[in-house]
Amino acid sequence: MSSKCWKCGDTAVIHRKYEGKSWCARHFTEQFESLVKSTIREEGLFENDDSVCVALSGGMDSSALMLFLSEMFENWRNAELTALTIDEGIKNYRDESIEIAKEICDELGVELHIASFKEAFGKTLDEIMEDKEYGCTYCGVLRRWLLNVKSREMGADKLATAHNLDDELQSIFMNYLKGDMKRMLRLGAKPAVLENDKFVPRVKPFRNTPEREVALYAKIRDLELHQTECPYVEDSLRFDVRDFLNEMERKRPSTKFTALRAFDKLLPALKEKFTDSEASVQNCERCGEITSGEVCKACELLEKI
Ligand SMILES: [Zn+2]
Ligand SMILES: [Zn+2]
Repeated sequence: MSSKCWKCGDTAVIHRKYEGKSWCARHFTEQFESLVKSTIREEGLFENDDSVCVALSGGMDSSALMLFLSEMFENWRNAELTALTIDEGIKNYRDESIEIAKEICDELGVELHIASFKEAFGKTLDEIMEDKEYGCTYCGVLRRWLLNVKSREMGADKLATAHNLDDELQSIFMNYLKGDMKRMLRLGAKPAVLENDKFVPRVKPFRNTPEREVALYAKIRDLELHQTECPYVEDSLRFDVRDFLNEMERKRPSTKFTALRAFDKLLPALKEKFTDSEASVQNCERCGEITSGEVCKACELLEKI
């Protein structure tokens, strides 16, 4: 392994086994940004006059996305950028990351909205967890519901999330293992969803970028690194899949890229087969949001609280 940049000979900050090369901070940053830009261009993630809302947790990945997009949009005169933070109400865990989200938005001059579980659902996640043990499923469903409703109220055309290559690949394998084909449609840089006024399309600019490289980018760009784990995290399947994929990558460098590209070739066929028809989408009886059944998943879970 060489500790010198392959291009300029400066001290390297990363060695990529999958390409057998090392890079200095400057050249790594250049490549990182150009990969994200090409994802955005090739997948057509944004229009010139989009109003884009970043789902900002205050964690490293979404902070890096916020910084990246705010710099990119400086040159897009008609695009607009806002941020949305969900306050699930998790003591000692969420408070600090909300402060970081506020600081970043202050610094970048981006308007930040904060939406809380307490306000939207009448209870914080801590309170929900007192009686029931739904953990990540509960939280994920409610968070997705709230992100959609709030970003729509904010007038967003797109909701940008910071999912990276590792997140995405873990989800692909988890869906395979669970046999959940419909959920596969949430994957991809620009997930397949119905055109519907009530749904704010998600986009994932970091989706082709390994987690380790997003972390390095955040570090090089001096972002505050708050990455404590959520106290309710319990998704053991995700951890198993993560460990498996990391082990494969260690033994056979570039496995992750290969597996992601294979999935991308499959995705158009999956979309064709599993996308809901317009007719099967209705409005939830309780909250009015779109759902494929009579009551949406969020309302179904809320009823159990
Ligand atoms: Zn260099
Ligand atoms: Zn509902």
